[in-house]
Amino acid sequence: MKNRLPIDAKTGFDVNDDFERFAQRNEIYCRSEWDPEIASDAARKFFDGHYMPHARARKADGFGQRDYALRNASWHVTNVLRDLRRADDDRKEGFFDTFSCHAEGWDEPYPFDSPESGTANLRRAAESIGVGLMGVCEYDERWVYESRFSEKTKQDKPVDIPDDLPNVIVIGEPMDIGLTATVPSALSGSATGIGYTHDTVVLLTLSQYIRNLGYRAVASMNDSALAIPLAAQAGLGEIGRHSLLITKEYGPRLRLGKIFTDMPLLIDEPSNFGVRKFCEICQRCSSACPPKAIPASAPSRTPHSVSNLKGILKWTTIAEKCFRFWASQNSDCSICIRVCPYNRDFSRWHNRVWRRLAATPLRKFMLQIDVFFNKRGRMSSRNWWRS
Ligand code: SF4
Ligand code: SF4
Repeated sequence: MKNRLPIDAKTGFDVNDDFERFAQRNEIYCRSEWDPEIASDAARKFFDGHYMPHARARKADGFGQRDYALRNASWHVTNVLRDLRRADDDRKEGFFDTFSCHAEGWDEPYPFDSPESGTANLRRAAESIGVGLMGVCEYDERWVYESRFSEKTKQDKPVDIPDDLPNVIVIGEPMDIGLTATVPSALSGSATGIGYTHDTVVLLTLSQYIRNLGYRAVASMNDSALAIPLAAQAGLGEIGRHSLLITKEYGPRLRLGKIFTDMPLLIDEPSNFGVRKFCEICQRCSSACPPKAIPASAPSRTPHSVSNLKGILKWTTIAEKCFRFWASQNSDCSICIRVCPYNRDFSRWHNRVWRRLAATPLRKFMLQIDVFFNKRGRMSSRNWWRS
């Protein structure tokens, strides 16, 4: 495996000789299964709290019964699929393992006369399914996990994505802007859950469509490979200081999924609309993060812990601080999404103008405008329910 690839010149990824692929066991949620540093009582309560009998509903705004009721319902569909083969086959699909609930497809590949025609068909199908964003990049082994994690044995197991599938379709499903405004709250976690539920529906439907055409397709949500670098390579957006993808359409408000396939497709170009330069002068996310998990300094090659990628120059969040804050709140947190200047409704013309100017030497002024006119404060959950 080569550490540096020509695509890096387009994405701006600066990959070192000491780069190492990521092992799933080091992902912070997996560590809560085996690492005493992460597996605390608060962490267990955080995961349990996603089921109503254990939701610790309280009087605080956004943490009442109806807030947890929606948050926990928003994860229900993904949880059902996650648990289908969990007990018997040690597969936690969509979270630790790829999806396997596909029907039989077609024997012979549909004869597209070119990758252009395959792409046109895929985009038409995706539109009918309601895909938020979609792009295609080449298979890149660097972002595929080195190994998966077995929930049952707590040991590594091999990744089961074939390495002869040349294309990766990356999809992004938007998170509700109003729900995200209520963070921190249990209610705001519904934006994440609903985003992943849409991801699941899109991934399973689109991969079944590809299989029905006679091609191979492996659908993967939060498992098996790093979605953010693949999404950047597929042209969905750029990576911000908060380590999240920032897109032109939804800013940082989206959830990602990917399909590994041999369907003939055109490869998209990475997009650049000035995010990196903007992040160099902006610290709204690092200042607002309660546990200070986001660096305020320049990108670095030094990982904070095993939960960070090694051998790449980037802004790296401190996963332990972030997860402990989630556990202490008994809900996930997206404050870094709420306060990001790219968290805007880009269907409005003035926000599109802001985005355009933020990519020019006027970026400092555009940041000041954002700070002055957009306080990005928390919306009360009571107001969200009333609105
Ligand atoms: S999710 Fe919350 S705790 Fe984690 S990095 Fe973002 S702001 Fe910080
Ligand atoms: S809040 Fe500012 S620094 Fe952080 S990701 Fe968004 S634009 Fe970049």
